[in-house]
Amino acid sequence: MVESAAINKPDYDIAIVGGGLVGASLAVALAESSWRIVLIEAAQPPISQPAWDERCIALNDASRRIFETLGIWRELEPDAMPILATHISERGCFGTARFSAADAGLEALGYNVPLRAIGAALWQRLRDSRVQVLCPARVTAVSVNTDRVELQIVSAEPNVADQDSASASTTISARLLAAADGAQSAVRALLGIGAQTRDYAQHAVVSAVRLSRPHAGVAYERFTTSGPLALIPKTNLGARDNCNAASLVWTLPSEQLSAALDASDYDYLQQAQTVFGGRLGRFTELGRRFAYPLARVIAEVSKVPRVALLGNAAQSLHPVAAQGFNLGLRDVAGLAGLIAEINDADDPGAADLLAGFSALRAGDRSRVSGFTDLMVRTFSNRLPGLAQTRHWGLVAVDLLPGLRESVLRQHLGHFGLPAGAAR
Ligand SMILES: Cc1cc2nc3c(=O)[nH]c(=O)nc-3n(C[C@H](O)[C@H](O)[C@H](O)COP(=O)(O)OP(=O)(O)OC[C@H]3O[C@@H](n4cnc5c(N)ncnc54)[C@H](O)[C@@H]3O)c2cc1C
Repeated sequence: MVESAAINKPDYDIAIVGGGLVGASLAVALAESSWRIVLIEAAQPPISQPAWDERCIALNDASRRIFETLGIWRELEPDAMPILATHISERGCFGTARFSAADAGLEALGYNVPLRAIGAALWQRLRDSRVQVLCPARVTAVSVNTDRVELQIVSAEPNVADQDSASASTTISARLLAAADGAQSAVRALLGIGAQTRDYAQHAVVSAVRLSRPHAGVAYERFTTSGPLALIPKTNLGARDNCNAASLVWTLPSEQLSAALDASDYDYLQQAQTVFGGRLGRFTELGRRFAYPLARVIAEVSKVPRVALLGNAAQSLHPVAAQGFNLGLRDVAGLAGLIAEINDADDPGAADLLAGFSALRAGDRSRVSGFTDLMVRTFSNRLPGLAQTRHWGLVAVDLLPGLRESVLRQHLGHFGLPAGAAR
């Protein structure tokens, strides 16, 4: 006979949908608690070998601190290239803005880290934890009841429910649903949570380049009227001395995408070099090119009981300021921090906890998404008056201490860093 208490208790305290960088980070942040946690991820995590042209992500100082608090940073550090300075300029203009770690009293403004290394460190930690991982498994339906959320899950492997089926379906319940299932969030769609989308009609082409001179840890952002080109320093496969490889993120109008992808390596390098100039010598070798369509997606704050949105499911940003994951990781730190304050007997899906989460994240979310959008629109605009404003804007950021400090703190992520993250 099954006890009625057992029938009534949800299967899990917390269900995390999406095991990308944000969902996996949340699972790691909660892994050592006594909550019963399940992580549901649709795709097998990719396993790739280190390569000179692998994709990287720029983590800011706030993210480094959060990963330190989670005990992940020591595994990332060997692959992380410290960004010692940034140089922001506009093609054809005299204004520049420069920031250095030394001025900010930091060892680095941020770190460029291979996605492979972050994913591997998080997933290894999950494998060694008590978090239940359902993967590959997809959430296909969600219903919300007074004391729980029910999730229908379809697994591609027979490990979730029906042992005889190649594609098994089951239902699980949890007190809190943390949706980290990306910009096209299925949870958002299934629950009717709205989102505003602004299609920038741009693509980012991401690749790596080798340079004829060492980059000395300096990151460059060069604006053009057709879109920004960023060059972010990389390690030479873990070695940091005299490194001459960088991530190249080139934003182009979507109508120029096929020409950019079809161009020979030589032609593409020549075009990028013309836009970037000769500060780092010649671009000598190009890695694989990957293209990403760019849109801003801002979800409504979830008013659905027991449901929180995090990372790209909550807000997906243009990569111009390299803020998307950094912001999502602060969502993780915020929610995990609030859950850490309650007792085992409390409800992690309680309305006051979720209202507290929305309130905690509102300012950071609107500041970073607004700032990023403003950068895209200001620097992609050909209006002549704006060109003057942009020159003087860059000069002002470079010279005015109050403005400089504010832009720097924004860049470092310090405005949105929850109390308690490592210093
Ligand atoms: C070109 C480019 C460069 C960028 N550079 C930077 C940078 O330098 N710094 C920075 O901070 N940010 C950067 N970003 C942004 C960053 O990549 C994203 O913000 C971040 O990866 C989002 O992570 P996420 O986990 O929220 O979403 P995702 O990575 O989209 O993960 C969502 C996960 O949910 C899973 N999923 C989806 N639906 C379901 C379902 N129904 N059931 C179960 N699982 C599901 C998916 O398989 C996926 O694994 C960049 C973005 C781009 C496009």
